[in-house]
Amino acid sequence: MALIVQKYGGTSVGSTEKIKAVAQRVIQSHKMGNRIVVVLSAMAGETDRLTGLALDMQKIPFPREMDMLLATGEQVTVALFAMAVKNAGFDAISLLGSQVSIHTDAMHTKARIQTIDPELINAYLDQGKIVTIAGFQGVSKKGDITTLGRGGSDTTAVALAAAMRADACEIFTDVEGIFTTDPNICTLARKIDHISYDEMLELASLGAKVLDIRSVGLAKRFGVPVHVRSTFSDNIGTWVVEENKIMESMLVSGITYSKNEARITIKKVPDQPGIAAKIFLPISDAGILVDMIIQNTHDGRLTDMTFTVLRRDYDRAMDILKKVAEEIAAEAVTGDKDIAKVSIVGLGMRNHPGIASTMFQIFAKEGINIMMVSTSEIKVSCIIAEKYTELAVRALHDAFALDKENLPAEEID
Ligand code: ADP
Ligand code: ASP
Ligand code: MG
Repeated sequence: MALIVQKYGGTSVGSTEKIKAVAQRVIQSHKMGNRIVVVLSAMAGETDRLTGLALDMQKIPFPREMDMLLATGEQVTVALFAMAVKNAGFDAISLLGSQVSIHTDAMHTKARIQTIDPELINAYLDQGKIVTIAGFQGVSKKGDITTLGRGGSDTTAVALAAAMRADACEIFTDVEGIFTTDPNICTLARKIDHISYDEMLELASLGAKVLDIRSVGLAKRFGVPVHVRSTFSDNIGTWVVEENKIMESMLVSGITYSKNEARITIKKVPDQPGIAAKIFLPISDAGILVDMIIQNTHDGRLTDMTFTVLRRDYDRAMDILKKVAEEIAAEAVTGDKDIAKVSIVGLGMRNHPGIASTMFQIFAKEGINIMMVSTSEIKVSCIIAEKYTELAVRALHDAFALDKENLPAEEID
């Protein structure tokens, strides 16, 4: 008898008909003798709808009240799911994060899970029930409802799997697994059978939203095998596992893109020690994350500082920086929201120079201007104009022949 945590995303539970179909799928697994915990997202579009309602009330909604509102989306789906299971003649119970002691810190709208007590869940499983838990939410020490950030139901599922020492965590979604790039923008994208936690961490951090990055971090830390697969077929999807369980590391495992960022430049700042701290301290104090940073010196006395922030933080960052610019006598602050970050990722890149230059050549051939570049051992990212995103992804996918069985890195020399 296996203990399995299954998570179904928004599209998979996007209507009452779909919830009934998911219930049937879970019942089949239950009938095979498995103990099943089901984590559900809100119906597709619901969290966006609720966010829109909040924005009608306030430009920047109060985070505590925002969580009260957003957490309702998942409450609806778990209740409907439990009804569907019971109606089909099986026993089920729906529970909120607070009811199963998913304790988080108090960082509303981006809370982190601290502890989970699986006692109640185990008791209901012992009674033969299918237990369904609202994803994306928890409870703070004060007893306030918290949410984990967009896409956070994946994290609920993996955290539960870790706390319960489940045999596997299955993430059911609207694609057949993890692909070499987003299959919805590149029809030649190929499904990957196995991927390491580290590669998936990198893909997720660079925009592959198929798995929430925090869920991958938790899976790695607690060794939870994660199976990403389709709700709408029985096919095997992609296993996310430790690197040593994968036979060979690929040169490039995937191409990602993110349209969530914006670029800001502070022009002609005095080039002195301490200037970077003066610029970035107020930004980090406001809880704004900065990603890429580049600095261009003019003549040794003045410098331009360009960096990226999340697009949703752009207006706040600009307000802060206009004040900072006055204080440090910078010439101007300019910004651009219509950018995208396109990246190539692969463990095999560690020992292979030349990947970045190939990427630059491909962009040159397509007439795509590169605004910023950042590299690490296993990735190269470029900031380009947003309108070229799809073109860039397809061109890179084609140039690195990712539609074909990728050559193992060792065989490329
Ligand atoms: P869910 O609602 O099930 O959580 P998401 O929309 O969060 O689903 O994630 C699934 C989506 O992730 C897919 O529909 C696809 O467009 C996108 N995606 C981006 N990159 C990839 C990738 N490399 N492989 C698979 N899907 C990807
Ligand atoms: N409903 C939340 C969202 O749309 C959480 C999730 O689906 O994972 O972001
Ligand atoms: Mg998701």
